[in-house]
Amino acid sequence: MKEVCYDVVVCGAGVAGGAAAVAAAREGANTVIIEKQCLLGGLATSGLIYIYLPLCDGNGKQLARGLAEEMLKRSVEYGPFEVPAQWGGPAGGDPGIAGNRYQCCFSPAGFTLTLDKMLEESGVDLWLDTLIIGAQKEENRISAVEVANLSGRTLVKGKCFVDATGCARAAKLAGAKVLSEVNHVTPWMMEMASDPSFFHFTGSLHIRPFGEHKAEYAAEPPYDGRKVTEFIRRGWRMIRGHYDRFGRNERRENYPVHLPAMPQIRKIARIDALYNLAETDAGKHFEHTIGAAGNWYHPDPGWEAPYESLVPKDLDGLLAAGRCIGAAGYAWEIFRVIPAAALTGEAAGTAAALCAQEGLLPKDLPYSLLKTHLRSLNG
Ligand SMILES: Cc1cc2nc3c(=O)[nH]c(=O)nc-3n(C[C@H](O)[C@H](O)[C@H](O)COP(=O)(O)OP(=O)(O)OC[C@H]3O[C@@H](n4cnc5c(N)ncnc54)[C@H](O)[C@@H]3O)c2cc1C
Repeated sequence: MKEVCYDVVVCGAGVAGGAAAVAAAREGANTVIIEKQCLLGGLATSGLIYIYLPLCDGNGKQLARGLAEEMLKRSVEYGPFEVPAQWGGPAGGDPGIAGNRYQCCFSPAGFTLTLDKMLEESGVDLWLDTLIIGAQKEENRISAVEVANLSGRTLVKGKCFVDATGCARAAKLAGAKVLSEVNHVTPWMMEMASDPSFFHFTGSLHIRPFGEHKAEYAAEPPYDGRKVTEFIRRGWRMIRGHYDRFGRNERRENYPVHLPAMPQIRKIARIDALYNLAETDAGKHFEHTIGAAGNWYHPDPGWEAPYESLVPKDLDGLLAAGRCIGAAGYAWEIFRVIPAAALTGEAAGTAAALCAQEGLLPKDLPYSLLKTHLRSLNG
């Protein structure tokens, strides 16, 4: 099999993977990012999730900085939405009031173009349409991932790996334990308004949730190929049911134009980390913090993540980023969203580059070194 070698190998080019690759390359690491789809951004773009949730605590204080903020600002580069010029409102103000939180909507296509530009600017090697199908280890350390694309199979070796697959796939392929939770089918899609005066970009970017959190649409882990297929088809049935209310020739308000190209399953699998965040960690300060995420449900003091929540207990040479870090229950709800994916991606990519440079395993990286390199902490 053909072999290639990089300092840092990032698995998955969602928001977390994109942030990890950019951060690693900006540290000077020879970095590759491997993505099975032909888009960048993962759920945020091909999954048609178009709301960049807040970087603030809901009481006027900004929490996440660094790449999380850079990506928020750049997500609207190609329009049609804007980042609020002013946000915050009074402490204790209603976070539902427009402009009261530091968040925005973005065009999924526009965000993909921007992510590509960010990878290009930082010199990351991008492999699209490439599926990670296996992993190799030396003792307990992951040393390579096996990938497949139209060139055949390749062994991609690395000094350090970031698992940003959204489902801890690289960690699992290397034999690490992964954990999961129940999920509910709540399909989002893109519609086009029937009124010709609305037939423009903003009008067609209308995405609706169909039936939030209905127990009858719950799917239990573990998720295998059959269960994921059933999950997706249940979503399609719900959407069909919505349109089947109308006759073929009846005038309708909206028409379907685009369905998500990846399963809208919030919590597929995550690593078992050296520290697994839990509901009781709201507002807690960690000595080894990598930065803080906001509670997007309601105002609260914010959620710091310790570096240890990115490091698997049972596998060396790899860090997790995004929705597969060590966070359970309500903490997983906080850390699975877009701004937290950028925050943990930046930390994982920076740590991976430092590990590659220093010849260290992630569990042995001195926090004092990481801290001086993290833009999420240093603005
Ligand atoms: C219904 C729903 C609504 C949501 N609403 C919001 C919202 O309003 N705002 C918000 O901020 N968040 C929301 N989220 C959550 C958010 O969209 C995602 O959790 C977040 O974007 C995850 O980013 P990620 O980079 O960690 O993972 P992902 O986006 O899952 O990215 C992982 C990437 O890895 C790739 N990959 C996976 N396996 C392989 C493999 N074997 N080989 C190669 N590539 C691979 C995938 O194709 C993907 O591109 C929502 C999620 C859902 C399901």
